[in-house]
Amino acid sequence: MREAQQASDVQCSICQRTLRRCESYILRMELFADPGVPEITSEDMPDTEQTISELLEEMESMSSDELQDKVHRHFDFRLCGVCHAQLLANPLGLPRRRARSEN
Ligand SMILES: [Zn+2]
Repeated sequence: MREAQQASDVQCSICQRTLRRCESYILRMELFADPGVPEITSEDMPDTEQTISELLEEMESMSSDELQDKVHRHFDFRLCGVCHAQLLANPLGLPRRRARSEN
């Protein structure tokens, strides 16, 4: 029975602490683009064929991961009690450090 108990141990995704599954919290995150369709008038698209081929070229240059990033991402995390409380107090971990622009 001890082996089964060890197998149910999990690790906190934030602090890496090992804890019992029954003491852990599950955090599920979904991140996706707003499904609203932008209104496009014919005036906005003077040359539809060219626009589409440009879009296809752009998509070909992207990796599947990049495309997936634009569509829908789903994350599962497991948290210990301490990280759970911290997350509730500040779900986005603000303030975040700004990523250095590498343009
Ligand atoms: Zn933790």
